[in-house]
Amino acid sequence: MTEPEAPASRSFTRSASLRTPADSIRTPGSTTLPANSAYGDDPAASRIQTPSAQREDELDSSLRPRRLDEFVGQDAVKEQLAVSIAAAGGRGDSLDHLLLAGPPGLGKTSLAQIVAHELGVPFVQTAGPALERKADIAAFLSALEPRSVFFVDEIHRLPRAVEETFYPAMEDGQLPITVGVGAGARVVTLDLQPFTLIGATTRAGLLSTPLRDRFGIQHRLEHYGPGDLARIVVRSAARLGVAIDAAGARAIAERSRGTPRVANRLLKRVRDYAEVHGAGSVDADVADSALDLLGVDHAGLDRLDRELLLAICTRFAGGPVGLSTLAVAVSEEQDTIEDVYEPYLLQQGFLQRTPRGRMATARAYEHLKLSPPGDDKLF
Ligand code: ADP
Repeated sequence: MTEPEAPASRSFTRSASLRTPADSIRTPGSTTLPANSAYGDDPAASRIQTPSAQREDELDSSLRPRRLDEFVGQDAVKEQLAVSIAAAGGRGDSLDHLLLAGPPGLGKTSLAQIVAHELGVPFVQTAGPALERKADIAAFLSALEPRSVFFVDEIHRLPRAVEETFYPAMEDGQLPITVGVGAGARVVTLDLQPFTLIGATTRAGLLSTPLRDRFGIQHRLEHYGPGDLARIVVRSAARLGVAIDAAGARAIAERSRGTPRVANRLLKRVRDYAEVHGAGSVDADVADSALDLLGVDHAGLDRLDRELLLAICTRFAGGPVGLSTLAVAVSEEQDTIEDVYEPYLLQQGFLQRTPRGRMATARAYEHLKLSPPGDDKLF
């Protein structure tokens, strides 16, 4: 099902225009913040359960896995990537262009950095909305060292007019640029060093077919199960110097909505709670009390998730309700609802998407302790 293209959010357009390609050059292991990050303006960023990055998360680069064997879960993706990396490395070639799709916070950026690290090549990062003009892409691509990984986050937000610049670059390693203006203008073709474009997207459906087809390798990351999340919590706790037992890690994992970024954030809040209210170490009781205090329930839903479900159940009789109406009802951007709230609510069976709009499921009513419509007894 194709969806209409979402407009770039205000925060992105504004911050993207402030940056230059040089702002975002990173090498493996660097902790530079992407210059276009929208942390401050992201309406979802104030939520403890938001899978989008917040400044606090990104500063904690010690938690980011550096090698493929440190990257927990997503076994099928890891296995296939290991083969691709070994083959490219053995031939001395650049890796084929790679598209990573999946909801925010599941490890797309981490995997891209890992690929660069495993290949032993430079990592250069930018984001779709920052590449406003063909010249921005030209500046990046012409400066790449041989076999570099060029990571474009949110590649579905690449302006269509500049997207086409990537086609010859990806296919033939060539970059046609126009020199001069008016009648004297001519096209000069630059030969590029071989490179690997890694595109990350939360909305693969918004990518144009010609762009998508030029990625030789495509992987989709799925939400993590509680077992993998608990392993991530234990690993992060060790790095942060937090004492945690298996039940404590499990309690955090279960409320992390399948997302490592959320798991790490909850771990830090639970650690704070343990330091203030307990002996500093985290067990299931400490984790449960801390998470209850934060308003994160056992299903991993926070206040805003519950408000959204409550609006559908009580104000729209369970739905179906259109996205734009729902967005107004909960005072939230449509994009935020689609990218941030819905994936987990859909996956967990609280919400259903139908051609006529969103509907609350029986599980949503049960979770909110409400009676489903039609359940009213006359006598
Ligand atoms: P995305 O780019 O998909 O939004 P990131 O790669 O930025 O996600 O991941 C967010 C954080 O979650 C990382 O900094 C890292 O600490 C943690 N993380 C993500 N995936 C994993 C994983 N598979 N194993 C361990 N930690 C992970």
